Amino acid sequence: MAGYTPMMEQYLSVKATATDALLFFRLGDFYEMFFEDAITASRELEITLTGRGAGQEERIPMCGVPHHAAEGYIARLIEKGYKVAVCEQVEDPASTKGVVKREIVRIVTPGTVMDSKMLGDATNNFIVGAARHHGRFGIAACDLTTGELYVTSFADSGETVKNILNVYRPSEAVGDEAAIAVIMQGTNPTTRTLLSTVREGADLTKLTEQFPDEPWSSHEPVRQKAVARLIAYLDETQKRSLAHLRSVKAYDSEAYMSLDAFTRRNLELTETVRDRSRKGSLLSLLDRTRTAMGARLLKRWIDQPLLNHEEAERRLDAVEALNQDWIKRKELRDELSEVYDLERLAGRIAYGTANARDLNALRNSLRRIPSIQALCRSFGTATLDALAGRMDACEDIADAIERAIADEPPVSLRDGGLIRPGFNAKLDELREASQNGKQWIAELERQEREATGIKSLKIGFNKVFGYYLEVTRANLVNLPEGRYERKQTLANAERYVTPELKEKEALILEAEDRMFDLEYESFVALRDSIAGQMARLQGLAESVAALDVLQAFAEASAERRYTRPSWTDGEGYDLTIEEGRHPVVESVNENGVFIANETSLTADGGSILLITGPNMAGKSTYMRQVAMICLMAQIGCFVPARRAVLPFVDRIFTRIGAADDLVGGQSTFMVEMKDIQVMTEQATSRSLIIIDELGRGTSTDEGMAIAQSVIEYVHNHIGCKALVSTHFHELAHLEGSLPGLRNGCMAVKESADGVTFLRKLVPGAADSSYGIYCAQLAGLPETIVSRAYSLLNEHGSIGDEHSPVRTVVKETAAAYAPAQPAKDVVQLAMFADSAPPVKPSRSTANDKLLDKLRKLDVMRMTPMQALEWLNDARNQL
Ligand code: ADP
Repeated sequence: MAGYTPMMEQYLSVKATATDALLFFRLGDFYEMFFEDAITASRELEITLTGRGAGQEERIPMCGVPHHAAEGYIARLIEKGYKVAVCEQVEDPASTKGVVKREIVRIVTPGTVMDSKMLGDATNNFIVGAARHHGRFGIAACDLTTGELYVTSFADSGETVKNILNVYRPSEAVGDEAAIAVIMQGTNPTTRTLLSTVREGADLTKLTEQFPDEPWSSHEPVRQKAVARLIAYLDETQKRSLAHLRSVKAYDSEAYMSLDAFTRRNLELTETVRDRSRKGSLLSLLDRTRTAMGARLLKRWIDQPLLNHEEAERRLDAVEALNQDWIKRKELRDELSEVYDLERLAGRIAYGTANARDLNALRNSLRRIPSIQALCRSFGTATLDALAGRMDACEDIADAIERAIADEPPVSLRDGGLIRPGFNAKLDELREASQNGKQWIAELERQEREATGIKSLKIGFNKVFGYYLEVTRANLVNLPEGRYERKQTLANAERYVTPELKEKEALILEAEDRMFDLEYESFVALRDSIAGQMARLQGLAESVAALDVLQAFAEASAERRYTRPSWTDGEGYDLTIEEGRHPVVESVNENGVFIANETSLTADGGSILLITGPNMAGKSTYMRQVAMICLMAQIGCFVPARRAVLPFVDRIFTRIGAADDLVGGQSTFMVEMKDIQVMTEQATSRSLIIIDELGRGTSTDEGMAIAQSVIEYVHNHIGCKALVSTHFHELAHLEGSLPGLRNGCMAVKESADGVTFLRKLVPGAADSSYGIYCAQLAGLPETIVSRAYSLLNEHGSIGDEHSPVRTVVKETAAAYAPAQPAKDVVQLAMFADSAPPVKPSRSTANDKLLDKLRKLDVMRMTPMQALEWLNDARNQL
């Protein structure tokens, strides 16, 4: 480092301790960045890159941001996935000789940001710690803003890691190298997760310091390690008390239904497949919560359906009670909307970043708790009684805040106005002294006006000159010479002081200074004492959040006419749904008509349903609705059905043979096969399997062969409930060989008005998927459509004699039959023996029709309009 200035030497030695972060180095009113950091930051923040002499020949790159605007810049860097180390002056420059001492006071990282503006209220921001140990994998997940900390462990498998990461969606992960390698495989490529490796063997004694009440020896070593890594990292980056991390919630990953990424995505539980938006997901449909903590908990409940029967029943009991009394539910909802985000308020209090307004928000929220408790109890249900019983209204904390904090305090903590009169005798004394001083000044103003006869004479104050007497230029003639001492000349006035005024000013300012200091001290003492009560506030937040989710379920259920599901008793494992609906499709259906469907997957009646039917008939919607209903029941919500008797399923698998995993760079077919492989490995007889369009991604023969063998495997080896849709209607013959399989199809009605999808599941198999018809509806060029129809005719696969679909295809084929080659016409007539005779030559009317068809703007038509048009056209032939 030879040749650098002392300041630059200091910079370099600090930077050496934070090599993986951008270093914000405080110089006076700015945070400066140097070298590579400056180049990166200037590019990312679009700020000017300059240079600075540093004692060597070459100037070094530098850029800077004003300290008061630093938070915004830091936030932008964090969002882009950087870490930022903030280095402050830790000595007063006025009392130091030479270079002021500087230290890194905090390191901001994506998983440890505390600024709630950067984080949505309705989502958690998790950082996870990970460890591998003797064939086990441990994950600890923490949200610093709320103080939640969860830990779980399981047999070391990349698949389970992936599923658990999907619950937390961490913005950052830390762990040993081996663990981080697995995490890297498991994180969603489209969500940014900052990964850091931390040293092996993090200090376990830290754990006992951080969580004195936790019986660490009874925790599996891999869990200890995961938490220890995380705490070590938080300690290192935060450099302050982690007082609000006091309790660890350990759970077995087997306690919740494990949902793989595909299933989560396909069922659109928390975001949509198309644009990954929350809107259109089950989460947004059910989100009738009134508090931010409720909204976050709702997401976790959806992400972690229960495997515990009793717990699901407890939730359902509460939802039922809340569902039945809308007046009390409304009162409860109104009360809940007045409760602020207790978890994040508590987090800020523990972190020392809460201001006086935050404390008042806490007080107001706490004051609501007694009436929330009373309302809860009034429902007369054990679950709600127990929740009310667990709520600690923390009246002592609310009282303490009320006694101390003024009603409308400012945001700033240094300029007074925080503390209520009467709270602190010394403070009142100082306040009185300052007020007396101010009165004295007002009196002086009055006396001087009288003595000089200048009515506009006034006494003012500014931060530079303090108190002054001001006389306008026009009145100067009336001012006796030498009465005051001149201080400042303005364009149209002169400002003066007197020794007396200066003396009083000193008294007032000193009193104010001491008053502000004392107010700040009293405030911090109160905040610290509340921080000591963290566990109580967190416990309260938890109960309020749970109540909020339960009332949200009740509200959504009441609004959408959901019913309470019941469970298949005893050993039985049957699934019966009467008039089931898809919750989301139903809610977005523009004309509001959703066709309900029955489902019966029973030991006697068949537990696999093989669904065939044309595209757009409603197959996927139907299959997904069965999965959604099972899932909603297992999070404790009512379900969209007239009646549902369900088994408690251990897992739901959905496999869809469509979406290309472009991000992952794999072909559709390969992805589908991998999914199927995981399913065959993990599904049990208590699982629910949904397979949509099995075997689509390869040649017909192979696809059909694979589809059949997968269905046979599910039937013979897994023996669980399954809904399978396929466009290979040939597979319907399986009903003959597999006793547990039944055929079903989506009914289609053909009438004079055209074809209507009835969206009704009926027994039996459809015999054609009439893809060409769909292609035609989609507006493919006429030549392609007509060629396809004639090829279909050539292959003789128009289908079963009595099928309505066949009639449509046949007649459409007829309409498209090429006019000239008589051979084709003859052939068509041979095959389509029951079809109306095809005219050997076209009339001019037909030519006109074709002309209209050519001009048709198919892309702007709805399917219904297209069908109507087609029907009209046929009638004109
Ligand atoms: P498929 O899987 O057979 O191609 P989808 O399930 O995708 O068909 O359904 C196609 C469209 O039909 C859906 O987007 C939905 O809007 C509508 N739909 C499906 N099922 C129903 C129903 N039961 N009631 C009303 N509309 C439905």
